Amino acid sequence: MVNKTDLFGLSFVNATPTEWYTHIKTILRQNGKAFLVTANPELVLRSLRDPGYKKLLTDATYITPDGIGITLASGRLGRPLQATLPGIETSRELLRAADKAGKSVFLYGGKPEVMKALVNELTIRFPRLQIVGAYHGYGQEGEATKALASSGADLVLVALGAPKQEEWIARVYGLVSHGIFIGVGGSFDVWSGHSKRAPKLFRKLRLEWLYRISTHPRGLEKALDLAAFALMVVRRRQN
Ligand code: UDP
Repeated sequence: MVNKTDLFGLSFVNATPTEWYTHIKTILRQNGKAFLVTANPELVLRSLRDPGYKKLLTDATYITPDGIGITLASGRLGRPLQATLPGIETSRELLRAADKAGKSVFLYGGKPEVMKALVNELTIRFPRLQIVGAYHGYGQEGEATKALASSGADLVLVALGAPKQEEWIARVYGLVSHGIFIGVGGSFDVWSGHSKRAPKLFRKLRLEWLYRISTHPRGLEKALDLAAFALMVVRRRQN
């Protein structure tokens, strides 16, 4: 069991990284089933604006705080979360554990060239990992859905960006009996070498969000969402 704390109408995992990784890796080892959402401020705002999306998130097994924005807000609102648990780190931990145990992964999303490079990269880095599905995210939904249903995948990583990735997971989740499903956003771009994670200095200063905004094609939209999120937190604190 991991502790959870309610924030913005969503139930967030409230754990240290060690507690969380141990917990989720145990589910993987035991062939369990889970739908994991990694929530940043943008995703929280979307859930507040769109009741259909919120319902989908509340049906997920776990929501983890992805990014310093959520963790800072939790402190300001008097319900502090113990740690930020970035989705890219959770996914990496799970890939490592899956490799160690010779488990299987299904990959869906990203540009065609990203998927090709990703499969190469994972094959080299995780030689015991079985890749049982690899579909890019531009026009392969039908094939990916069909393949997933019969794949028996232990880990399902979906990089379509929010909300598409969570919506697809919600649609296919009932088709299989086990597997850990995660929406991983831009992680495939990073792992395949097509986009860089923020340099160490940015991460150390907890400014990864600033780097992402300044390098993302929809950076302005993201910046405005972050400002709206910050404003909402300040207002809620005053009320
Ligand atoms: N993506 C995709 N299909 C789509 C839209 C996006 O596969 O129809 C992929 C995109 O190539 C990228 C990932 O989804 O690898 C994340 O996209 P984006 O950066 O827009 O999402 P965010 O990081 O804002 O969640």
